Amino acid sequence: MINIAKPLMGAEEKQAVLDVLDSGMIACGNVVSEFEKEFASYLGIEYCTATTSGTTALEVGLRALGIGKGDTVITTPFSFIASTNSIIYTGATPVFAEIDPDTFLIDPTSIEKALEEHPEAKVLLIVHLFGLACEMDAIMEIVRKHGLLLIEDCAQAHGAEWKGKKAGTFGDAGCFSFYPTKNMTTSEGGAVVTHNAETARRCRLLINHGMEIRYHHDEIGYNYRMTNICGAIGRCQLKKLDGFNQSRRAHAAYLSEHIVNPLVETPVEPDEAKHVYHQYTVKVALGQRDAFLKHLEANGVGYGVFYPLSIPEQKCYAEMGFQTEWPVTDTIKQQVVSLPVHPGLSDEEVAEVARVVNSFKGEA
Ligand SMILES: *Cc1c(COP(=O)(O)O)cnc(C)c1O
Repeated sequence: MINIAKPLMGAEEKQAVLDVLDSGMIACGNVVSEFEKEFASYLGIEYCTATTSGTTALEVGLRALGIGKGDTVITTPFSFIASTNSIIYTGATPVFAEIDPDTFLIDPTSIEKALEEHPEAKVLLIVHLFGLACEMDAIMEIVRKHGLLLIEDCAQAHGAEWKGKKAGTFGDAGCFSFYPTKNMTTSEGGAVVTHNAETARRCRLLINHGMEIRYHHDEIGYNYRMTNICGAIGRCQLKKLDGFNQSRRAHAAYLSEHIVNPLVETPVEPDEAKHVYHQYTVKVALGQRDAFLKHLEANGVGYGVFYPLSIPEQKCYAEMGFQTEWPVTDTIKQQVVSLPVHPGLSDEEVAEVARVVNSFKGEA
């Protein structure tokens, strides 16, 4: 079986964790501070606050920017649920904009339309889905024109670029996840990055019960602190991130060159973007996906369907009154299949994935 994801833990990570255990300082401390500095420096941004997950990073990023009850946030209907849940946690109201059928990313034209219908919206939360940066030229123009706050969900985009600039450094806050299946991991973990000192100060307060002076709580915060154990893993993984991404890109390039099946469309990578292939997501001809998944299973190729439902139609939001019909998303969600490209694959395994995809003949 060729797995869809596999975290790569080396001797470095093991030793780093043992060192933390031996130090006795196993909660949040110096190791996390070092990780934060190194991650910020990797991205080329001033501030980084590590958190317990990508979800809490998004919540903290939004709250640090003052977003809450009464605010409207425009976001994508096609992502992991955390992108929208984080908006809801703050008390703000999500509204959606359609995606582009080729990139699966939020469509700038649809953002403009959402702004016409919701002129009160002052926040945009974009997701650099599958490792591909959104169309940042068009998006930054909209942000400037309408004076929006911009939050980037970079949970799948560590090291992704648009015109040489890293995802997470365009907006007011960039939020990362270090879950084991992501491009790099800390086990569970996350981070908020920002250019703004005040936003960073607010993030720091929020993850630590609103406390700057010990046991003086200036606002209601959380315990969302990363542990030194996670930070130690993160420091090792960060050193390997570019190598991991290079490997993902090489596997993706191989698949895109070798997959020749009229029923399967390979992913696009715009010239301006450096895709880091958190997922290598193909589009299967409408009506053929179930047969395709069976074919993969029968031939030992792992896969993922990200995502089978749009966010607004999720059962948990049934009472929210969201617009649930999104024609592009509703088509794409029936076509997408993510194939293995993670750095743990051998060349033979990648070649096998291409062979198995090519041998799919479709169902009459
Ligand atoms: C993984 C993910 C998150 C949430 O990260 P966790 O660390 O699992 O909380 C948020 N948004 C997207 C797009 C993700 O893929």
